[in-house]
Amino acid sequence: MSSQYGLLMNIPDIIIAIDGKSSTGKSSFARLIAKEFSFLYLDSGALYRCVTLFAIERGLIGRDGAIDLPGLEKALADLDIDFTGDGARIGGRLVEDEIRSLEVSSHVSPVSAIPFVRRFVDEKLHAFGAGRRVVMDGRDIGTTVFPDAEIKIFMTAEEKTRARRRFDEMAAAGGNPVFEEVLANLLERDYMDSHREVSPLTLAPDAFILDNSDMTIGEELAWIRGLIQGKLDIKDAGLCR
Ligand code: C5P
Repeated sequence: MSSQYGLLMNIPDIIIAIDGKSSTGKSSFARLIAKEFSFLYLDSGALYRCVTLFAIERGLIGRDGAIDLPGLEKALADLDIDFTGDGARIGGRLVEDEIRSLEVSSHVSPVSAIPFVRRFVDEKLHAFGAGRRVVMDGRDIGTTVFPDAEIKIFMTAEEKTRARRRFDEMAAAGGNPVFEEVLANLLERDYMDSHREVSPLTLAPDAFILDNSDMTIGEELAWIRGLIQGKLDIKDAGLCR
């Protein structure tokens, strides 16, 4: 799909923050916005997933799920993550599929609840995002990372719809997912992400809610186009194909 709305290319360097529970379609929606309106896309969840994969590979997460906190804090100094190209990379190695595995998914919420991990990721997000036209998705982008983001969106969708999307994604990546396990992991992450002490997932008071349970991509695009136009007072953008 090529960029269709020429006039919107004149939008200033704003930040669009997209938050919401797991598998609400945040990253697909953010990618769509990035492509259509020429934004840089930053997937903050991919960073937490990279930190988690790194911790697993370094043997810093025990069989019982216990995390070696001093070991991880020290090891983070060696973690070289790049996530602005064709996918997440650790030390140059493409890890896009590995970070989406159920193993990483089942440890990522406890890892992302650690304050020094959040500081590590926040610094990277700021370094990549500040002063640019960027769309970023996660759990705390509009509340903590970029509380002054010009546009904040909170995405939501029905549980089973979300689990089905995640299941399809994993199957398409060559995995052999079990629907009930995928659903259970998703609900567990929702709970942990919303109840942790540091930067829990909450609805920012100035966020726009998007429930995409029954929406097509085209409808989502029309919705965000209207929102950008309204917020930035851009006229007739839809006519500028
Ligand atoms: O978005 P995604 O599902 O890939 O994120 C994986 C996990 O990373 C989430 O379940 C959450 O624990 C954590 N995360 C976070 N804050 C963000 C983005 C993701 O805590 N801004």
